[in-house]
Amino acid sequence: MQIDLHTHSTASDGRLTPAELVALAAQAGVDVLALTDHDGIGGLDEARQCALDAGIQFINGIELSVTWNKRTVHIVGLNFDCDHAPLQAGIQRLQDFREVRAREIASKLDSAGIKGAYDGAKRFSGGKMLGRMHFANFLVDAGYAKNVRSVFKKYLVNNKPGHVTGDWATLEEAVSWITQAGGVAVIAHPARYKLTRTKLRKLIKGFIAAGGQAMEVVSGSHCVNEVKTMACHANDFDLYASSGSDFHDPDFPWIKLGQLPDLPEKCRPVWDLF
Ligand code: AMP
Ligand code: MN
Ligand code: MN
Ligand code: MN
Repeated sequence: MQIDLHTHSTASDGRLTPAELVALAAQAGVDVLALTDHDGIGGLDEARQCALDAGIQFINGIELSVTWNKRTVHIVGLNFDCDHAPLQAGIQRLQDFREVRAREIASKLDSAGIKGAYDGAKRFSGGKMLGRMHFANFLVDAGYAKNVRSVFKKYLVNNKPGHVTGDWATLEEAVSWITQAGGVAVIAHPARYKLTRTKLRKLIKGFIAAGGQAMEVVSGSHCVNEVKTMACHANDFDLYASSGSDFHDPDFPWIKLGQLPDLPEKCRPVWDLF
């Protein structure tokens, strides 16, 4: 079974439309797929329909932006009811903040001599959710760096000219929006935050206290050792384990759709809950 429970489409900062993503998933032999766009569920209907046609089991997903201990962490939600009002209101609030932040990023870039970044990023977002990836695309296109990776380092992260501090949902809010809508909350790519062991365990404890049930053990951004470490944490805390590529773009060779290693044997797969 090939299972991929963390992917992006043009409904956030992915490069493929939901239909194209599902087509690629089918080609890659994916059996179970979740679309988890940042702070939005606008791609789910199209993806679900295409998955049905392709014989892929589809799971509603989202990746919520959270501010925890003054840093940004991501909480994936899986298998929730899209019509739940508090979830929709939460999403709206995050989208509103994205708009405010985008204006602020553009104004900071403007002060650094880079003009027209808001409209430029908007062109790449197709008028949908605005994220740093769209600013990165604009900056690369305008010749400020040779690729998305280097442009992030140069302009869009902490202490760089286009960085704006996040003011996202609290951990408790994000987890409750998901669980109240009948879904499962999952800590996304836990190794990416580069937390000390103590801090990571603090995050996990807060997450569980809020009602969270799972964490990504296998992730496109985890190396083999990180998978082992995260499997130990998941088991210590009796969390279910998830597996997702965090696929964004077929031209990013370092992350492939639906080609993930199996979960370590001792893990309890999150899909047992679906
Ligand atoms: P945002 O939620 O708008 O702040 O954007 C976060 C997204 O930007 C992540 O989901 C990635 O898609 C992308 N991203 C963040 N950091 C980097 C990086 N260093 N290199 C490439 N992409 C990045
Ligand atoms: Mn992204
Ligand atoms: Mn993420
Ligand atoms: Mn992601």
